[in-house]
Order: sequence, then C-alpha cells, then structure tokens
Amino acid sequence: MRSIIIGGGVAGLAMTTALGALPQISESTIIERRPTDAPSGMGFLLMPNGLAALRELAPQVHWAHTGHWIEHASLRASDGSILREHALEPALCVSRARFLSQLRATALGGGRARMLDGASVTHLTTLPDDDAFADRVQSVVLDNGNALDGELFFGCDGARSRFRTMLFPKAELSDAAIHEIVSVAEAPVLARELGTTFRKYHDPRGGLAVGMLAEGNGRVVWFIQMDAERYRLSDASGPTLAAFADATLDGWASDVIEALSTTDFNQSHLWKTRDLPPLPALHRGNAALLGDAAHACLPFTSQGANSALVDAVRLARLLRDVRTVGGTPRAFAEYTRLRRPNHRRLFLEGRRLRAAFLAPVASSGPVLPLVA
Ligand SMILES: Cc1cc2nc3c(=O)[nH]c(=O)nc-3n(C[C@H](O)[C@H](O)[C@H](O)COP(=O)(O)OP(=O)(O)OC[C@H]3O[C@@H](n4cnc5c(N)ncnc54)[C@H](O)[C@@H]3O)c2cc1C
Repeated sequence: MRSIIIGGGVAGLAMTTALGALPQISESTIIERRPTDAPSGMGFLLMPNGLAALRELAPQVHWAHTGHWIEHASLRASDGSILREHALEPALCVSRARFLSQLRATALGGGRARMLDGASVTHLTTLPDDDAFADRVQSVVLDNGNALDGELFFGCDGARSRFRTMLFPKAELSDAAIHEIVSVAEAPVLARELGTTFRKYHDPRGGLAVGMLAEGNGRVVWFIQMDAERYRLSDASGPTLAAFADATLDGWASDVIEALSTTDFNQSHLWKTRDLPPLPALHRGNAALLGDAAHACLPFTSQGANSALVDAVRLARLLRDVRTVGGTPRAFAEYTRLRRPNHRRLFLEGRRLRAAFLAPVASSGPVLPLVA
C-alpha cells in the first residue's frame, strides 16, 4: 500500500517514521509546502509522553542529544520575586530546526520514503461512494497540477490544515485571543543561570507573561505571551516587535532584560495562537488527521509536538495488522475512539489555563504552564 503524508512537520515526519516499520507500506511520500531552507521556528519542550513516543518510533536515536533537559519550574512575578517553584518530570527543550532535521533523517532513512519539498496540496480527488468504503480518497493534487495516487492518506498540515477543511468543511479554528512573540537569545550567561529551570515571569494584573528556557549551546528560547485584546501590534516586523518588547517589559526582572538585549527580533516570530474545537472524528474513509491538523491546542499545554508524536505511534500500532486498504476504516475508527478524548481534554485544559492566564495572578495563582 502507498501512503501519502501531507505536511512535513513533527506529525508528518513522525507518521512517516512509524510507517517505515510496517512491511505492508510499499512507499511513503511526504508533501511539504515549505522549501528546505525556510526558517523553521524556535523550539519546544518534549514532555515525557512525547519522549516515550520517540523512543518507540526510533529507539536507535539518542533523542536526548537533540536538546537540553528541563527539570524545574520557577514561577515569578515581573519584578523577579518567586511565587512558586516545583520539580518537573524531566522534559527536553529542543530547537525545532535541529529536532526536525533529526526526525527527517530518521523518516527518510529506511529508503521507502521520499519528501517533496516546496510542493503544496491544493485539493483531493475521491472515488465514488460505494457501500463498502464511502468517501475513499484517491489522490491529492499539488499546486503544480500533478496528482499523487495512494491508498492511505495522512493529513499532517498543521493548525490551518487545508486537508482537514476538505474532510470536515465545517470545522473552524477559534479566534486568536492570545498572541506570543517567540524568540531565541544568544545569551550564554543567562543560559548557564537558567540551567535546567523553566522560568516564567507574570504581570500581576494577568494577561502578560514571559517564559524562558535554555536550549543548549548558550541559546535561550523565550516567549512573550499576551492578551491579544489588550496588547496590539501594528505589524510583525522585527523593529515593531523589538520596540513593543522594550516598552512593555521596561522594569521587569534582570533576566528578562538580558533576554531582550541579546535577541535579534528580525528572527522572532509572532504567533497568533488558535485552538480547534474537538472534531466529530479524526478520520474519514482512508484518510486520517494527526497533530495540529487534528487538534490544534493552545500553547499553555505545551502539547502540540508531543500529541503529534503520540498520534503517530498510536495510529501505526493500529495499522500493524492491516494488510489491505479495505481494513483501514476500522483501524482509523479505532484511532478516533482512542485519541479523541485526549484531544478534548487538551482543548478544555488549554481553555482553563487561558482563563487563569488572563485573570490577575492573585485570583488564580500563576499558570502552571505544562500539561502532562
Ligand atoms: C514554521 C513553524 C514554526 C513553528 N515554531 C514553533 C515554535 O517555535 N515553538 C512551538 O512550540 N511550536 C512551533 N510550531 C508549531 C509546532 O511545530 C506544532 O504545534 C507541533 O509541532 C505540531 O506539529 P504538526 O506537524 O502537527 O504541525 P506543524 O508543525 O505546523 O507542521 C505542518 C506542516 O505542514 C505544512 N503544510 C501546511 N499546509 C500544507 C499543504 N497544503 N501542503 C503541503 N504542506 C503543507 C507546513 O508547511 C508545515 O511544515 C511551529 C510550526 C511551524 C509550521
């Protein structure tokens, strides 16, 4: 059976890696819209569930070498005073680019997968309904007009998934209530000082926070999280982001000022965070959705990449004994049954954390930024 994977981010590369272990998959083709040299983001935390999924996907890779361990959280007020500290189950802070490069090498390493970079899926074609297998996808059509046929299709094209819209036209992302400016600071002194601690600074009035983690090699991944209603930006250019950060964070703790002064905001990214109300199903016919395409969640959960990895592992387990395309609907239906409750939980937890983030710190305490 031939598989087509739409999107070469975490979900797409993880699914391709997992399919590489299934002998009944003769070839996998990943279609990735971005050219190979496009900027690929700052970084994220691999949580225990994501790390366990990675070990199952590719036990031969030393995933710990791709990042820096985080073992504590320190929640602070904007002036630096400590509000709460606690241990975390060890998580790995990785550069998204470095992690994706390793995952890509792993996905393509088996020789039965190929990647089409710089190609975008615009629409799909389906076989006419029949009683046994309604809504069966036959091919995806690329922006250059070429069609790719397959037997199994995996929509891994991120939060604003076009593939999802083709399967579930009524599904809609929420409005972006929280914006994040994500940056990397070249700050060896600050990275050493942070060590294995995730620090998060909070404006006591709520709706504004700064988080930072060492990512290795003297680099610090950091973000400004803000209430999009209250803090408005005219554009997302480097100078605008830098001026906004300077003005908004004036007088904050010295770590924050250090991160500000060692950041090139031309490399920063303004992320308008949206979540997806739970879908009625994560599959349709011979097509399944994974990662943000299936369950975009708010960044408070730190579960975007981790859930994508778990999706791939669970779906591959269910496909292990499927030998013909006719057997996929049952496996995909079971995937929906198993994963949908988890997605619903992340959606609700993200919303709960968002409400706590927007409220004054004294009313609900600082937001514990991670969901296991
Ligand atoms: C450029 C970028 C930078 C990011 N930076 C960060 C970050 O710094 N920190 C963080 O926590 N999260 C970041 N994220 C989000 C994070 O990677 C995801 O939330 C999480 O990893 C889930 O991964 P995913 O594979 O489901 O989605 P994504 O990582 O969004 O990957 C989806 C992929 O599909 C491709 N695609 C979309 N539409 C099409 C199409 N029609 N045809 C072909 N390909 C298509 C996209 O180019 C993308 O590579 C970033 C995402 C992107 C795309």
